[in-house]
Amino acid sequence: MANQPFSQLPTGVWSIMSPVKGRAATAISLGVLSAFSSLTSLLTIPFIAAELLSDTPAPGVVWRWVGLALGLVVIAFTSRIFSFRVSHVGAFNLEVILRMALADHLAQVPLGYVITTGSGAVKKLVQDDVKALHAFVADSVPHIGQVCTIPIISLIAVLIADWRLGLVTLAILPVGLIFIKFALKDYEEQRDAYDHASEKINGVIIEFVQGMQVVRTFDDGSSSFARFQAALDTFTQTLRDWNDKNRFAARLGSLLFEPLPTLVVVSVVGSWLVSQGSLTIPRFLVFLLVAPRLCGAFRPIFALAYMINQANAGAMRICTVLAEPALPQPSQPQQPADASIFFNSVTFAYGDGKSALQDITLSLPVGSVTALVGPSGAGKTTLARLIPRFWDINEGAIEIGGVDIRQITSDTLMSWVSFVFQDTFLLQDTVFNNIKIGRPQATRKEVEAAAQAAQAHGFILDLPLGYDTLVGERGGQLSGGQRQRITIARAILQDNPIVVLDEATAFADPENEALIQAAIAALTQDKTLIVVAHRLATITQVDQIAVLDQGRLVELGKHEQLLAADGLYARLWARHQAAQDWGLGKKQSKRTRTNASTSMNTL
Ligand code: ADP
Repeated sequence: MANQPFSQLPTGVWSIMSPVKGRAATAISLGVLSAFSSLTSLLTIPFIAAELLSDTPAPGVVWRWVGLALGLVVIAFTSRIFSFRVSHVGAFNLEVILRMALADHLAQVPLGYVITTGSGAVKKLVQDDVKALHAFVADSVPHIGQVCTIPIISLIAVLIADWRLGLVTLAILPVGLIFIKFALKDYEEQRDAYDHASEKINGVIIEFVQGMQVVRTFDDGSSSFARFQAALDTFTQTLRDWNDKNRFAARLGSLLFEPLPTLVVVSVVGSWLVSQGSLTIPRFLVFLLVAPRLCGAFRPIFALAYMINQANAGAMRICTVLAEPALPQPSQPQQPADASIFFNSVTFAYGDGKSALQDITLSLPVGSVTALVGPSGAGKTTLARLIPRFWDINEGAIEIGGVDIRQITSDTLMSWVSFVFQDTFLLQDTVFNNIKIGRPQATRKEVEAAAQAAQAHGFILDLPLGYDTLVGERGGQLSGGQRQRITIARAILQDNPIVVLDEATAFADPENEALIQAAIAALTQDKTLIVVAHRLATITQVDQIAVLDQGRLVELGKHEQLLAADGLYARLWARHQAAQDWGLGKKQSKRTRTNASTSMNTL
């Protein structure tokens, strides 16, 4: 992390709170003071009663006790208010620190890690887990002082007042504890199952909403809705199982920690002791006032234990991400000489160890167009994503302009390579700013020119506030084609010499598709282009076609050469033609590179 807020990487809830430990300690201390003064103010009452019940009550003494009680109440309230105020400020600070640290760190880990983690899990981390920690620091930390203080002082008070009745009061607690312990059995596993189920729902909801366009194109939504329903059912079942398992023990256990059962027992035994003359009224009063609080004080302990567990689980998830190594940066960065790309015996496996690419050697001259084709799972997307260093390869080297990409800083690499993938990403910001992040120093004119080239200017002007219209979350208010054109405008504005393009598989409508083709043509003009092609009819004119199969480069050449070779490409072509020959009538005649790149997206 650039601005490391932690002296060392956090490992749990307490260490993740280290940036605000001063405030947390102050909040806890004020909590102790508040609990102490509120309880001792109660304990003045037996003294007042003793004075009033004495043969010669002295009003001066009574008023002194009353004054002391009032003073303690004021201290109790004031310190409680300040305890929460300090904890809330600490919680807000921690929230900002954690969000910044996460955003900072996520910007430095390999992009592939972020993709593999999934947007559902990242959202849960940055939003929900950080919020849970905020809630913990704001609302639970002040209780820590209270929870520790009340049982100790109450215990001392009842044992001093009358040790026999003190032991009777305490007798209820172990019984309650046994039930609670039983209820908390398997807590970790249940909690994991719950977290897993809720993460799954997050992921499926995001997938469902983001994939709406594809869903609507290919089915009526029933199959993806079924996935959502299944995730929801698992979640409900997990909760139900958890509840069924522990319900009885938890209810009985917590009932025994209610003030009432203790009060009943203490009243009965205490009254009997008073009637026997072995307990005075003021001492009995100590029990009536303090015993319910003693038992009641244990309930927040369980709530607190739950909050600590929950905060700890979130903290652990945050810690795991913060511990993910950043993408290594070169100690002596180099600049590529040109926009050529060379895959030199590249071998790559994902974290699971299964090889995704094996010994790929492929050269992409400056300004050439290379299409990656092959069956699904062949490694096309992986190969394309290795260029902007989504992951680092295991063996071999990828070179841009003769320089290993690991010797190029991320910033330089991003200024050489633009990538436009299917999953278009828009920020919750204006259309203008969404395009401008392609080149933050760009002028309004340049942004508009890029939008014009990307065939987006027209529809942007039709938006309520034109370029200043806010784009909904992840571009929700725009159509899929419009979102895509905005991301292409962004890439055009970047004007990087290398473009990595994942050809879209689903299009909203033919008109949008034609516009997207024109936008892509503008983007890829005079660039070194590598395109993951899903529809072979679109790539017949490209400079070279690299055919991948099971992670290996099995064929390389132009369309006609590969057809003549009668290998995998010829088979894929025959299959493709059989399925889609209705689209071949529109093929291009020109063979210029620019037109070739246009044609890649023409059915
Ligand atoms: P294609 O684009 O040709 O369909 P991919 O490059 O997506 O193929 O996938 C190549 C192989 O790598 C497949 O076996 C796929 O299951 C695996 N794979 C792809 N992405 C990941 C990932 N993020 N983590 C683990 N394995 C992956």
